[in-house]
Amino acid sequence: EKAEIRTTLSLLHEEIGSSRGPALGFVRSRVEQMSREWIQAGLRMKQSSNNTASPQMKVLLYPGVLAGPAGQRFGSMVERGGPLGELVQWADLSACLTILGHNLTLSTSRDHLHSLIGAAPGGGSCPIQRPLPFDLIYTDYHGLAHLQGAMGLTFQHYQCRFRILDSFGTEPAFNMGSYARSHGYRTLWGSWGLQPLQYMTMFPHTPDNSLMGFAVRQGVRTEGRKHNVAVVYGKQQYMWQGMADYIQVLSSEMEVHATVYQPPGGSAPLPPNVTNHGLLAQDHFHRLLHRTKVFVGLGFPYEGPAPIEALALGCVFLQPSLTPPNSSSFYRGKPTTRKVSSQHPYAEHFVGKPYVWTVDASNLTAVRQAIRDIKLTQVKPFTPREFTCAGMLERLQAYITHQDFCTPSSPTWPPEGALRTHLGPLSLSCVSVCRRSGLVCEPALFHHLNNPKTFSRLGLSCSAREQEVNHLFPAYSPWGRRCGLQAEPLLFSCAGSDPQLRRLCPCRTHLPGQVALSPHGL
Ligand code: UDP
Repeated sequence: EKAEIRTTLSLLHEEIGSSRGPALGFVRSRVEQMSREWIQAGLRMKQSSNNTASPQMKVLLYPGVLAGPAGQRFGSMVERGGPLGELVQWADLSACLTILGHNLTLSTSRDHLHSLIGAAPGGGSCPIQRPLPFDLIYTDYHGLAHLQGAMGLTFQHYQCRFRILDSFGTEPAFNMGSYARSHGYRTLWGSWGLQPLQYMTMFPHTPDNSLMGFAVRQGVRTEGRKHNVAVVYGKQQYMWQGMADYIQVLSSEMEVHATVYQPPGGSAPLPPNVTNHGLLAQDHFHRLLHRTKVFVGLGFPYEGPAPIEALALGCVFLQPSLTPPNSSSFYRGKPTTRKVSSQHPYAEHFVGKPYVWTVDASNLTAVRQAIRDIKLTQVKPFTPREFTCAGMLERLQAYITHQDFCTPSSPTWPPEGALRTHLGPLSLSCVSVCRRSGLVCEPALFHHLNNPKTFSRLGLSCSAREQEVNHLFPAYSPWGRRCGLQAEPLLFSCAGSDPQLRRLCPCRTHLPGQVALSPHGL
């Protein structure tokens, strides 16, 4: 059966309607608030000719972070300013898949998961293998462990059907267990040995993973509604530490508002002249942003959805730079080597001025100047296509149609015609090499250039040729003119650099505002 685009979310409302707890409450209300937008985007997709129907998928959504005792802790944090970014993604993913016409089941408990997919009981040492009743399973790192417990021996067999929501991403060197252990890339999270593209991130961090993203509301007119108001981005007290001077400069120029969680009975001590609304329900938060001129980052949290929402509501985003680029304790133990150059590198590098201003927060003169300049700057609501409902529908549709990790062969999407081979300078990753040319690195194209011919085509004569299990290969070392080919396809990696190596990079173009998609082979 073909997946027909739906123009209603009623099936999804039914699926999540009865679920309890603050976390699912957040998901439900976000889906409700954005449903008109999703439906309109679905209608437009239905009318456009390039809507190629894919088979209807049976999909399980299993946010492991909400299951078990950890789930209760997470849920109670939701009401106290805890992280909401993942819930934003679960809400938007579920809406998106429903509009695309797939069949969704949502589960947030381990017992329920067992009843849906558990290996049949009574199998003794040889459990009876039940066929998996889902074509696709979206889960997270917590959920992977639960799935392994529930599926037993069938886990390996079906892991090609998994998609992992992984906000900050997993680089290939961390993903392959044996390599991670022997090369110092071992972390608590990595080492599952999935295809790196099965991990789906919140922003396009490393193209080794797929961009899941999320969607923000569009089309709100803001002219004449903007006041001299700054809203500070920071739901919890600790995020404000060390930023008193920065806030003081801000409050000398603008009316400053905050949405910091207040414990019952107590009030959150904040700098003077800051109006705190307490943590707001999302629609109230958006209403506040609607009359806000500038949304102001404090340096943490990193890479959340809120700045993209603020831009869509016509705000400017002002944020601290991090020099030198920093990987901070926050990323320690996460399966990535990425260093961030500001609180929100996507906003800085993919959006930039006049919408996004990145300043050294310790240079108060520069901060004051930026605020004054921002007060004089008019911006319209802005959203990169990839963070609109239409963009997310288009992207997920393409993934579902083209990404196949179950057939044991080299990837065929995007097609070879998309490949632009670049030879990087020493010390640069392929992420940077491609980006410098306005392109993106495409790991699914590595296998086309991993051969001796590519070296000669690039004018490199190799005096030694080696084939190695090394996440930086294929690469060229000018010392001894050594040409290295990759021996392990799981380790093809856009991320990673070495001062001794010039990497061979598979770059491609992308659709405007949609880095995940190549204009070739949509
Ligand atoms: N948000 C909210 N109430 C507030 C402040 C923020 O509902 O008072 C929402 C906001 O709309 C965004 C979500 O919280 O969608 C996640 O925000 P953030 O960027 O802080 O990411 P996190 O660190 O929570 O993952």
